[in-house]
Amino acid sequence: MNLKRSLICILLLSALTLAQHPAPHKKTAKAAPVTRPKADPVAAIHQSALIVDTHADTPQRFLDENFDLGQNTPVTEGHIDLDKIKQGNLGAEFFSIWVEPEFKGHYAQRAMDLIDSVYQQAARHPDKMTMAFSADDIARAHDQHKFAALMGIEGGHAIENDMRLLRDFYRVGVRYMTLTWSNTNEWADSSGDIQDPNIKHHNGMTDFGKDVVREMNRLGMIVDISHVSDATFYQALLVSQAPVIASHSSSRELTNQPRNMTDDMLRAMTNNGGVVMVNFYSAFIDENYRKASSDPEKIKQRDVEVAAYKKTHPHADGSPVTYDETAAIEKKWAAQFPRPPLKSLIDHIDHVAKIAGIDHVGLGSDFDGVTSLPKGIDSVVDLPKITQALYQRGYTREQILKILGGNFMRVMREVEATAKRLQDERKESDALSFEDIELMVGNRVNSVQLAYRIKQHGVNFDLTPERRTQLKAEKVDESVLDAMVKARKK
Ligand SMILES: [Zn+2]
Repeated sequence: MNLKRSLICILLLSALTLAQHPAPHKKTAKAAPVTRPKADPVAAIHQSALIVDTHADTPQRFLDENFDLGQNTPVTEGHIDLDKIKQGNLGAEFFSIWVEPEFKGHYAQRAMDLIDSVYQQAARHPDKMTMAFSADDIARAHDQHKFAALMGIEGGHAIENDMRLLRDFYRVGVRYMTLTWSNTNEWADSSGDIQDPNIKHHNGMTDFGKDVVREMNRLGMIVDISHVSDATFYQALLVSQAPVIASHSSSRELTNQPRNMTDDMLRAMTNNGGVVMVNFYSAFIDENYRKASSDPEKIKQRDVEVAAYKKTHPHADGSPVTYDETAAIEKKWAAQFPRPPLKSLIDHIDHVAKIAGIDHVGLGSDFDGVTSLPKGIDSVVDLPKITQALYQRGYTREQILKILGGNFMRVMREVEATAKRLQDERKESDALSFEDIELMVGNRVNSVQLAYRIKQHGVNFDLTPERRTQLKAEKVDESVLDAMVKARKK
């Protein structure tokens, strides 16, 4: 290319760039408002998108505050209602079934109450919203211009260490589960208390925890690794036969929060085929905000105030004072730290897109569950600003559609396909396959436990002489081999 031509090219390019992104000059600010060109490409992209957000804590508002999604609420009180959903063009939301650890002894009950609260909303507003349980359901709702409501359990403790409860939750419509919340449970470690020496940890997951992941795969419940410890994360990816999601997690490289994901984890997500849905919470997306708000003295002040409130407002029936009741205190406390710019959130989306790949990033707002959001994002109404910012950074229409929901839809379909395949392979829903046994042996499940599980579930294979030899070589006890023969399901 000769010099003259290159110069012309550069001039043309700068003219084009200027036309697309007029510099925020002081003069323009003073000038009369420019009328928008009729075809706004950003609005066109946003309106044509099927937008899926994978984490909102609104069910606590439904249940504990009697909040109705049809009510138009100030953004200081709530981030989501039907009117706002329409304005933001949100297509589907995963409502979080978050069971506070204070509900010990009643986890499943609390989860069921929250689940019911979501169904109640759908029943009250059938013209505007519908429950959805599959990727096809989401797409169908979108075609009918209805908002799709889905549910994900936040915190594996909700299944009360019972595989039957896990299946029950699937049956009532739960489509993902975070293996832990901020609390380590009896089968998986959490990032939230991994440094706490008073908590009994498992080096990731126990054998039962790994079985939970495998049963989720078989059911078609998406394995969600938000909140888990690093060891739990890597083990879940090793065990899971389907892509996993992080329903609301950001980048640790940019914001040093143990609950965020390292670049190595992001790359592991690429291999797994999953998707990282970026959390909007200020303390997860902005290092300055995180540092300011993690000052131990300030945290102590807040905790003292919350504890005092709980003490002075006990429930007559002895049930725990919920997060929702103390949310006002938390919000007021958070307001002392300046909100980060929207740029911080976009940087996280951009970073995940660069490291994990454009096919592995999405949105997991954490609306109604966080006390601070970046400037400009006051509620679901402001989702178009994310589209705008991505467009300005040079993301194409196709890439933006992937981030807004396309990537998640792909993963959900893959999880459904994996479940179908696993169910076809294992007709007897409970019976263990030879691979199940091998996995447990590999995980050093002891003979008593192994024999017990075989007796409880049955096996769907014949113990051929080859298999017998193989298991004996792995030092499997004779009593376990006997149990297998007896538990053979025809
Ligand atoms: Zn969470």
